[in-house]
Amino acid sequence: MENKKPSILLVEDEENLHEALKLNLELEGYEVTSAYDGSNALKSVADEYFDLIILDVMLPEIDGINVTETIRLQNNEVPILILSAKNTSADRVLGLKKGADDYLTKPFNLEELLLRVQKLIDKNKKMQDKETVGDTYSFGENTIDFKAQEAKTKNGEIVQLSKKETMLLKLLIENKNEVVPREKILQAVWGYNVYPTTRTIDNFILNFRKYFEEDSRNPKYFHSVRGVGYKYSEG
Ligand code: CA
Repeated sequence: MENKKPSILLVEDEENLHEALKLNLELEGYEVTSAYDGSNALKSVADEYFDLIILDVMLPEIDGINVTETIRLQNNEVPILILSAKNTSADRVLGLKKGADDYLTKPFNLEELLLRVQKLIDKNKKMQDKETVGDTYSFGENTIDFKAQEAKTKNGEIVQLSKKETMLLKLLIENKNEVVPREKILQAVWGYNVYPTTRTIDNFILNFRKYFEEDSRNPKYFHSVRGVGYKYSEG
């Protein structure tokens, strides 16, 4: 199977530098999407998945610091490498505070940039691989077998799971300790063109509590967050 090229969003308004970076990144085997200002950068982030964002700080419309902050407020953990033009450290510190992962000060060494890019992409990939659950998953006294679509519950009982139950369990567990928004659940489990009511997801969650919780009225694992979504958590 062909490996997909890592994708990078390059946000830089100085055209010469932009073109030079794009060319070099492409030569390294990356797929590069271009943005020349902050609002277009945010638009691309909303539309597409990226493995990394290279983000200039001084940009027209919305600056790189604000772009970083907005991306993080959307719960998007894409690695961000900021390029700061100033000699002062204020930009870098602010960028890192708002959630950037790394920075370079202009003018920078191309080789160093490429090394940092690769490091950030590798680190992110490793983290994502870790968060993918395997064929089975155990918590408390329960074990779920995603392949067989069944679960062994606290009483040692085997429960057959429907396909949608299995998908929802997997989605929630892969996002452990995070609220998964209703829209994301509907999209991932029910598909784009079917609109189940909130009740439908609620009923699934009620079943999960019956199967897996010690006390289904006082859930430890499966939580609903009113008006937002659902969360699987441990401890
Ligand atoms: Ca600039």
